[in-house]
Amino acid sequence: MTSLVRNVLRNSIFIHFILLHLAAVALAAAPQITDMPILWSEHREQLIREYALTHYSMDKIFITPQAVVVHWTASSTWESAYNYFYAEARGDGTLNVASHFLVGRDGQIYRLTPENTLNRHIIGYNWCAIGIENVGGVGGAEDLTSAQLEANELLIRYLQEKYPSICYVFGHYQQDAARESGLYVENVAGYRSEKIDPGPAFMGALRSRLADTGLRFYEE
Ligand SMILES: [Zn+2]
Repeated sequence: MTSLVRNVLRNSIFIHFILLHLAAVALAAAPQITDMPILWSEHREQLIREYALTHYSMDKIFITPQAVVVHWTASSTWESAYNYFYAEARGDGTLNVASHFLVGRDGQIYRLTPENTLNRHIIGYNWCAIGIENVGGVGGAEDLTSAQLEANELLIRYLQEKYPSICYVFGHYQQDAARESGLYVENVAGYRSEKIDPGPAFMGALRSRLADTGLRFYEE
């Protein structure tokens, strides 16, 4: 072999090795998502449409995600949270609360609805926000696990890559600070609820893990 051929061959083997390595890293970093759909029907779609019209004057059941909102469930098992979100309607006949994702204490990620549907999880932002619920926070304890932190990081990276329209990440308790985004919309005067989830420790840790993404966070 000429030295030229040898060099080309060596370089192509080297590049091939690097590509394989990168592919392995990408695979390792992709979140494992288990589909666990909550009840879906024309009735739910009708309730979503009514909610969007009442609160946002928008006729829609799908969203273009612009924000990811992180929550805790204030419950101790994913099953209890899942059962809570499962039904279509609340007692008053309006759309039930639900998020797109539910993350168990062990970091297992469940997808409860399609990623681009409008779910009721945060007043003022449901029309543009994907919700991630984390099992924990019973009694206000900041007890989310490191496995959940890891899962949230991977999930948000996955969502940002899939939906370049996403620019903001905030905790439910940061709902007022996040108005700076210009995304807050609410027709019903006085409709709000005070929130503490998922706590500043979790949001601070998430913010530093995602510092390279360019996503906009808010001070804890
Ligand atoms: Zn919440």
